[in-house]
Amino acid sequence: MPLSVVIIGGGQAGLEAAAALRTQKFDGAITLICEEPHAPYQRPPLSKDYLLGKQQEDNLGLRALSYYENHHIDLILGERAERIDRASKTVHIAGGGRVNYDYLILAVGARNRPLSLPGAERVLYLRTLDEARALRERLAEAGSVVVIGGGFIGLEVAAAARTQGKDVTVIEAAPRLMARAVSPVLSDFFLNLHGTQGVKVMLGASITAIEEGAVVAGSRIPADVIVAGIGVIPNTDLAAAAGLATGNGIVVDECLRTSDAAIFAIGDGAEHPNVFAGGARVRLESVQNAVDEAKCVAKTITGQSARYGDVPWFWTDQFDVRFQMAGLSGGHDQQILRGNIANRKFSVFYLKDGKLLAVDSVNRFGDHIGARKLLAAGVSPTPEQLADESVDLKKLV
Ligand code: FAD
Repeated sequence: MPLSVVIIGGGQAGLEAAAALRTQKFDGAITLICEEPHAPYQRPPLSKDYLLGKQQEDNLGLRALSYYENHHIDLILGERAERIDRASKTVHIAGGGRVNYDYLILAVGARNRPLSLPGAERVLYLRTLDEARALRERLAEAGSVVVIGGGFIGLEVAAAARTQGKDVTVIEAAPRLMARAVSPVLSDFFLNLHGTQGVKVMLGASITAIEEGAVVAGSRIPADVIVAGIGVIPNTDLAAAAGLATGNGIVVDECLRTSDAAIFAIGDGAEHPNVFAGGARVRLESVQNAVDEAKCVAKTITGQSARYGDVPWFWTDQFDVRFQMAGLSGGHDQQILRGNIANRKFSVFYLKDGKLLAVDSVNRFGDHIGARKLLAAGVSPTPEQLADESVDLKKLV
């Protein structure tokens, strides 16, 4: 077994890699370097329960601090890995420190895509705990909120702000909500959901400027707080500077190895070939992907044969709706509905040539779990079975 593993990035992927190595009985040194000053914490609550004041900071940690000590995981927090010297297998840390590795895991994640507009310095973003803290404080005093971007994070922020009684407007450049990730039927559902809750949604709207107290998008929209959720940029710079292949993320193979056999990349910052995308390279931004990729790498490093092939899944909470996705729906040629959209309890199944590709579920947890099992087993029920609410999907596996 190798003697030392260095992990750069202390988000979900980095933490899970360290934990999975210990689960796989790796007994060498593990060093986790993270530029954020906090021990690894969960991001999903930042735009949900944390923003709503239902979850506090001391409940966000992915592990108790004692875990790191008990499992001999050396945490270097608040420091940035500045350079990788592949020849000597050394990571150089800003401020002068160095750590040697046998294997290096890049779990560097992604950063907010910034708005570039006059007045953009007034805009808040939401990726880190520090940003969430600032947003929560500003929201507490705000009457009106403008959210730029109608993706998952923008809509979760909109829902949290509206639940707290704020006047909320969402401005989205695309003609429908969450267009990058969901089908039109789900975009329409969420447009309706937010509308019924009193969120104003502007689609196909472009912003020309941000002024003191307002966003200009055709007309002037008053805003005490302006938040942008317009996507992220994968952190590829460190890898690229070390001569590793990068594209829309750090490029890895099916074992999550970069173009250097001693270096792996996982999580939001990595672009991997995905069996559920027909082998095409994708970059997924989800807890599932971060966790499962971390486990896969830990197996490889501990000498087991592992290829990444887990079913992609994701969830978002908005108002009283839990929306869960399993699989990747790109390229589907058939769509089947189960349940009732008006009752806010339904699933949409996506198939291609009769093969089940993905399932979106609104408040139907059983369907979501069943879908994950079906996709993992490669089982495609008939359209009649999928549409029939009395059929338990789990039993078809
Ligand atoms: P990151 O979380 O980005 O972590 C990377 C870390 O590496 C960062 O702390 C960064 O500072 C650090 N780093 C980068 N470069 C360096 C360097 N050179 N040196 C040292 N440190 C470095 N997913 C879901 O599945 N469901 C949800 O409901 C959901 N909600 C979300 C809500 C919010 C507000 C956000 C922001 C994300 C949400 N996600 C959700 C996505 C999910 O949290 C991410 O996919 C996951 O956190 C990715 O983890 P990661 O470790 O790959 O990257």
